[in-house]
Amino acid sequence: MTVLFLAHTECDGTLAKVSLETLTAAKALADGMGAELAVGLVGADVAAAADSIAACGGTFFAVTGPAYNEGLYSTDIAAAEAIAKACSAEIVVAPATSRYSRALPGLAIRLGGRVDTHLSGLNVVDGKPVAKRWFYRQRMEGSFTRDERPWVLTLDAGCAGAFSGAGSADVTAVDADISGVRTRPEGMICVSEDEQTIRPDAEILLVTGAGWTKKQADGEVHVAEAEDSILRFLSATKSSLGSSKSLVDISGEGGAVISFLTHMHQVGQTGATPRHAKGLSTCCHGEEPHVVGWRFINERRAINTDAGCGWAQGKCDVLYVGDAFAIMKKVNELLG
Ligand SMILES: Cc1cc2nc3c(=O)[nH]c(=O)nc-3n(C[C@H](O)[C@H](O)[C@H](O)COP(=O)(O)OP(=O)(O)OC[C@H]3O[C@@H](n4cnc5c(N)ncnc54)[C@H](O)[C@@H]3O)c2cc1C
Repeated sequence: MTVLFLAHTECDGTLAKVSLETLTAAKALADGMGAELAVGLVGADVAAAADSIAACGGTFFAVTGPAYNEGLYSTDIAAAEAIAKACSAEIVVAPATSRYSRALPGLAIRLGGRVDTHLSGLNVVDGKPVAKRWFYRQRMEGSFTRDERPWVLTLDAGCAGAFSGAGSADVTAVDADISGVRTRPEGMICVSEDEQTIRPDAEILLVTGAGWTKKQADGEVHVAEAEDSILRFLSATKSSLGSSKSLVDISGEGGAVISFLTHMHQVGQTGATPRHAKGLSTCCHGEEPHVVGWRFINERRAINTDAGCGWAQGKCDVLYVGDAFAIMKKVNELLG
């Protein structure tokens, strides 16, 4: 029996952290089931990536060439299919990157198998593979298995330690059939670190609330100053940016908006539930529908002019009662 760990390289030819984490989980699954581990890599040139994980003990397969750098659905699925068939994979474990979240459900169809996505862990129980995932917006974690094969699984970030173990990998080249692919990519632009403000791996979550766009003590709104202060903090600390629902909704209501916020930033009951070691809330009231999104934020701090705000009701570890404009200005000065 073969467990295939499948990954694509990033723009710079390396493997993403989530891919290294997924390798740890795939290797433990193969070891626990007494199965062979196969490693399938896809990209323009995977030699460096293969060497970076050579010590995992798997048999390496790769589909390479310029066409596989761009992450098209059609080329990704063709490459994945060719590798899965080359090693007769019964279980395929891949990272839940945007590329593979899009392509691998289709792989399961092509192989006549089943797929489960966004898993939070893999286990072996009585020799059988068992997958774990969250249900009901991360309130319950469930375990399940399937008898159908091939079983294609994608693992979310942060659910295993990143594999490390470099060496010299012996890679078998596999050909994929992309003769029927009609889409021609014009090129690829990788988002720079400063443009990408949702950073799941960041230590700190900075949450912005509607207060940033409200009239302040002088009777004026100061949105430009707010944007500058928020961006300076993000740039200096590489924190992840989150928002209250009120602030991301303001654009639809014609109010002054923070230009770089989208609904993807919303934290809370109807938003995201991110995981970070620390969180700092600014100009956000801390109402329950927002704070439920902080379930996995370990140390919580908030800045609010109102000493009776929601955060003060036992929802944060430290509440700074003060003006976030002044406090964040000082914090940014200290950060340099
Ligand atoms: C079914 C349902 C689902 C919801 N889901 C979500 C959700 O997923 N996420 C979410 O966020 N909300 C959600 N909400 C909305 C939520 O209840 C609140 O309305 C929202 O979080 C309020 O956003 P806010 O705190 O930014 O704005 P406000 O309530 O307007 O609070 C602004 C805060 O800024 C403070 N402030 C103003 N100026 C300053 C300053 N200079 N310095 C410091 N503080 C200042 C004020 O004191 C105030 O506390 C939901 C509501 C419902 C009914």
